[in-house]
Amino acid sequence: MDRSSLAALDRRIARCRACPRLVAWREEVARTRRPAFADWTYWGRPVPGFGPPDARLLIVGLAPAAHGGNRTGRMFTGDRSGDVLYRALYDVGLASQPDSVARDDGLELHGVRVTSPVHCAPPANRPTPAERDACRPWFERELVLLRPSLRAVVVLGAFGWQAALPAFAAAGWRVPRPRPAFAHGARVRLAGPDPAGRPVDDPGSAGPDSVGPDAAGLDLFGCFHVSQRNTFTGRLTPAMLREVLSAAAAAAGLPAAPG
Ligand code: SF4
Repeated sequence: MDRSSLAALDRRIARCRACPRLVAWREEVARTRRPAFADWTYWGRPVPGFGPPDARLLIVGLAPAAHGGNRTGRMFTGDRSGDVLYRALYDVGLASQPDSVARDDGLELHGVRVTSPVHCAPPANRPTPAERDACRPWFERELVLLRPSLRAVVVLGAFGWQAALPAFAAAGWRVPRPRPAFAHGARVRLAGPDPAGRPVDDPGSAGPDSVGPDAAGLDLFGCFHVSQRNTFTGRLTPAMLREVLSAAAAAAGLPAAPG
């Protein structure tokens, strides 16, 4: 694939100002900062996906955290949710180090990319449906660029799941009807496009020009979000997360340790 395309997309995303409420919030947070991070220059912009352009496994969250990704400029970096996620990726052999604290900390992901359907930190971690829809073209474009290599996806939480399914359909995969419900441990097979290259099941999709012959099938996995609410209460344990990541890595053809 054209490696420069995904990098170019990431740069374009980082300049986006389409959502007035989120632009105001992300910049306000960057100005006021949290006392513990008073010496940081916050990123304060949309946070692009992180990971190699030929990733076989994609992890989809919700949106950057105000003092995590919105501070550091990297997905799930600098907050408790990210601590849990990257630790688990490291434990199953998909990350070069267990911590993700800053964009220049040397972390590399092995065949994995991390992204979200909304690229700006929202107030109370809740983007509106309109903001989710405004950001969807970025997500669809990212999926199209990853399509030649992508074989499995882990979606963290119901919001990401609902945002992801139409985007996968628009990017060329065939999403079952009725659309499968989110659940921790859910596993859904999305077939590649029909031979004519047409996404058959989403009339609102980007259409025939958006797909090519390079989209293989995809295994979609549901996992509870790595939010503090879920991890502190034990709703999502490290073992549960490792189990999903290992299964998804195996589906993607990546070498990973058992969960
Ligand atoms: S949420 Fe997405 S569409 Fe809205 S301003 Fe941020 S990057 Fe742009």
